[in-house]
Amino acid sequence: MARNPTDDVSQVVLLLDVNPFFWGAEAASGGRSNGSGGLAFDQYFQHALMFVNGILLLNHTNRIVIIATGSSTCAFLYDSTATDGINGSSVTSKANKKTQVSRTELITKSMQEFVSKEEEASKESSQIQYSNISGSLSMALCYIQRVLRGPLPHPQARILCLQGSPDAPYQYISVMNSIFSAQRNGVVIDACVVGSQHSAFLQQATHITGGIYMKPPQPDGLFEYLMMVFTTDLFSRQFLQLPRPVGVDFRASCFCHKKTIDMGFVCSVCLSIFCKHHQTCSTCGATFSRSNSTTVTGMKRKAPGS
Ligand SMILES: [Zn+2]
Ligand SMILES: [Zn+2]
Repeated sequence: MARNPTDDVSQVVLLLDVNPFFWGAEAASGGRSNGSGGLAFDQYFQHALMFVNGILLLNHTNRIVIIATGSSTCAFLYDSTATDGINGSSVTSKANKKTQVSRTELITKSMQEFVSKEEEASKESSQIQYSNISGSLSMALCYIQRVLRGPLPHPQARILCLQGSPDAPYQYISVMNSIFSAQRNGVVIDACVVGSQHSAFLQQATHITGGIYMKPPQPDGLFEYLMMVFTTDLFSRQFLQLPRPVGVDFRASCFCHKKTIDMGFVCSVCLSIFCKHHQTCSTCGATFSRSNSTTVTGMKRKAPGS
């Protein structure tokens, strides 16, 4: 079988949900509030770090980038291709020799810096229970775009979202735009959800880009799920029996109130979705009478007059 020699080289971008408000609520309730099965933040973080080491051990040319997702901001925590920390923290050559120690220390240090900045930045925000997944997806796609424009051979790029906090309906449009640009660039999005609810955004993202969606039944064994399912490169996946989606929640959010809806009105010009009938579309400015609007269920759109 003819194979691309770069098939096995992966560029993984890990989106790590470190929203301090979500994990703080979890710690306060002893693991009952968000259903993460008693998975505490430090345990979650350790499992993620071991996964990062695992990816880099599997193939010495594998590359990984970690992006932290907070409630209002997101930031690069680590890039395995950089010799020094991305956000200005320099690593001496002495520290580089004991890579294993310095990598863990480097990631932990940048995560702590991020969380303290995040708490500062979120003081005015009222949406602290949600994470800025749209922001970190955009950062991941920009990073991958830079890699794909760089010198050949290109690694196979994929994004893994490790998410705990629930979907933010107000981010619907930006998340969907990120998903479609990932699909266009052939970037696979995988998702591992450790919160109590399924994530409709990530179900749609994995469905559209051909990635794996998983909500571990026992989140305290997160590391095993990460190693068994999400370390697999895109080439090997065709030979493996990986978890199949049980179903995808295709519900959309209305553009007017950013609420998740089952049925709504769709603009026949720009396909914007509204929960109520409007005389003019707030997105493209098209005017229509009531007979021109059609109701929509899930992703099924009906063209006017059909
Ligand atoms: Zn609405
Ligand atoms: Zn419109």
